[in-house]
Amino acid sequence: MAKLKIKYYPDPVLQKKSEPLTDFGSAMQKFFDDMIETMYVEDGVGLAAPQVGVSKRILIACPTVKEGEEYVIVNPEISEERGREMGSEGCLSLPGISGQVPRAKKIRLQFQDREGKPHNVEIKDFFARIIQHEVDHLNGILLIDRVDFDKRQQLLADYRRL
Ligand SMILES: [Zn+2]
Repeated sequence: MAKLKIKYYPDPVLQKKSEPLTDFGSAMQKFFDDMIETMYVEDGVGLAAPQVGVSKRILIACPTVKEGEEYVIVNPEISEERGREMGSEGCLSLPGISGQVPRAKKIRLQFQDREGKPHNVEIKDFFARIIQHEVDHLNGILLIDRVDFDKRQQLLADYRRL
C-alpha cells in the first residue's frame, strides 16, 4: 500500500463531477487499498477519490474509526433522505477549518462494493453524514458550499490565513 497525496482547495479536481467506475480490476483494487491507507494516515473518517486527484465515483468511509472496519463504496446513489440535523464537519482538503453543515439523518444508499457487487442499505446518523459529505465530493461540492454566504466567507478567510 502507498499513501496518496491529498488535493487541497482550490484544486479544480475538487470542483468537478466524477465519472462512474466500471473497472474493478487489480490496479483498481490497489487504488482502493491506497485510499484506505491514506484515510487512516490522514486521520480521516472518509475519503473521496477526487481528494487524491482521481475523478471517479469512489469513496472510503469508516464511521467506527477502527482499521479494518472501513467500507469501499463505488458509484453511490442516495435515493431517500429523512430528517435533518446540523453537525460539525471538517475536510482533509480544507485543513484547519470546520463548519456546521445540515444533513439528512437517515438515507437510503445504493452502491457497489470493491468487487462491483450491488448493495442497497439504509444508514443513519454519523455514518450517513460521512456518506453525504463524500458523495458531495463526487459531485464537486465542498462543505463551504453547504453553509450560508457569510459563513462561507468567514471559513475561507480563516483557511487563507492558515
Ligand atoms: Zn471532505
